[in-house]
Amino acid sequence: MACLFCQIAKKEIPATIVWENDEFLAFSDIHPKAPVHVLLIPRKHVESLATVTSVDEPMLGKLMLHVGDVAAVVGLKERGFRTALNTGKEGGQEVPHLHVHIMGGARPNKNG
Ligand code: AMP
Ligand code: ZN
Repeated sequence: MACLFCQIAKKEIPATIVWENDEFLAFSDIHPKAPVHVLLIPRKHVESLATVTSVDEPMLGKLMLHVGDVAAVVGLKERGFRTALNTGKEGGQEVPHLHVHIMGGARPNKNG
């Protein structure tokens, strides 16, 4: 079955891309759950944190490092942001291609 995020990575399906390099891509979430909500994915198809192996160790390190790069281009690096990695059915993962949610832009607290 075709993977939605692989198709976005190959630009076969349109997305609002905010940052990319040769190994990763970040794009706006189509149903944002915060004022700014982007997804960072590896171009390589990896299903989830439950299926990665030691082969994926360099990719996982870079994935975490690039969260800050993506946060910077969407204006969240200084303000702060939330990250989420949903894994599997009961973990709330709807798209079986590893992705980091990067969310922010909300007021820092109720009284802020
Ligand atoms: P998850 O539930 O962690 O698998 O997150 C999948 C995310 O992908 C959800 O927040 C969806 O809103 C988002 N999503 C689904 N389809 C698209 C799409 N075509 N373009 C951008 N984001 C999408
Ligand atoms: Zn994929």
